[in-house]
Amino acid sequence: MSSLLVHNIGELVTNGIGADPLGIRRKAAVLVEEDQVAWVGPAAYAPAADHRIDVGGAAVLPGFVDSHAHLVFAGDRAAEFAARMAGEPYTGGGIRTTVGATRAATDDELRATVRRLRGEALRQGTTTMEIKSGYGLSVADEARSLRIAAETSPETTFLGAHVVPAEYADRPDDYVGLVCGPMLAAAAPYAKWIDVFCERGAFDVDHARAILACGQAVGLGVRLHANQLGPGPGVRLGVELGAASVDHCTHLSDADVDALAGTAHSDGFGTRTVATLLPGAEFSTRSPYPDARRLLDAGVTVALATDCNPGSSYTSSMPFCIALAVREMRMTPAEAVWAATAGGARALRRDDIGVLTPGARADLIVLDAPSYLHLAYRPGVPLIRQVIRNGVPQ
Ligand SMILES: [Zn+2]
Repeated sequence: MSSLLVHNIGELVTNGIGADPLGIRRKAAVLVEEDQVAWVGPAAYAPAADHRIDVGGAAVLPGFVDSHAHLVFAGDRAAEFAARMAGEPYTGGGIRTTVGATRAATDDELRATVRRLRGEALRQGTTTMEIKSGYGLSVADEARSLRIAAETSPETTFLGAHVVPAEYADRPDDYVGLVCGPMLAAAAPYAKWIDVFCERGAFDVDHARAILACGQAVGLGVRLHANQLGPGPGVRLGVELGAASVDHCTHLSDADVDALAGTAHSDGFGTRTVATLLPGAEFSTRSPYPDARRLLDAGVTVALATDCNPGSSYTSSMPFCIALAVREMRMTPAEAVWAATAGGARALRRDDIGVLTPGARADLIVLDAPSYLHLAYRPGVPLIRQVIRNGVPQ
């Protein structure tokens, strides 16, 4: 068994058990055996290993867990972004533009885009990335989107209910039938999760409930896009169905926050349904940010993710989202870093990632900085010096 010692760590974020939520250790070392963390402790007591990386007093964190991304698409929507910045509102209707381009693309073109964006994210410290379908919206195009996504990530999500495609515009019930029937059957072998864009202009609560229930019936976990563009029943539907995560949460009522808080684990370990906030979307659509403080103060587990997609948030950068969360959403730097690592893991119902404790997967990032604080303090600066994924330096 080959071993690797990451040594001379000035500040180690473990997200482990302790009074401090980040479980910080100073002057630390991490021993990696194969693809797992085998030991964490003081550098002075570090065991011998086959290989050593001396990080020279830098900060080391768990790799980022980006639990919400749409990578399987073709084309871009830079012109739509420019129009928005000139004052046009965001409605979500541009999704259909990407659907046309995606259907016209070859498998290899789609695969190249997924790999390019996944590589871009990895260089910025993302060691786990969820990938959704949702720009095919036909049986064949949704199935191939997920087949291509599954080549890159085990965290794949069937989002056939992203919008109603143009050819079904006047018969949405028929489209819901297609999603629940042949499209789900073709997609499910490549998917772990099912998602619905539950929003005015996309899918109403009854359609969303029907689609998510069909996914659950074939063993897919539930997550959904909810309460992004306005108030609505999406968050409470997610709670009702036991969703792992409700994503966006930009427009919440007191009842929505209470419903999320009501999913608390009895051991004080946060909430069973995570609120995943996607500040890149508010940035790129020039919209008000979600109220992270209200959720945190109510005891709701919060995750941060990029929502990487060509329309409303074309960033793959978790450090950028951390900086936005701190500056614009009044999260502390510690809360934002936790949400981008352990929070993302909770949103994917994973306990082997987002933490650096013995038995966890050896996904580590080394910063070009002495502290995690620099991720928000030095926005826009490439601070990820090295990424180790599955125990392998990248
Ligand atoms: Zn999304």
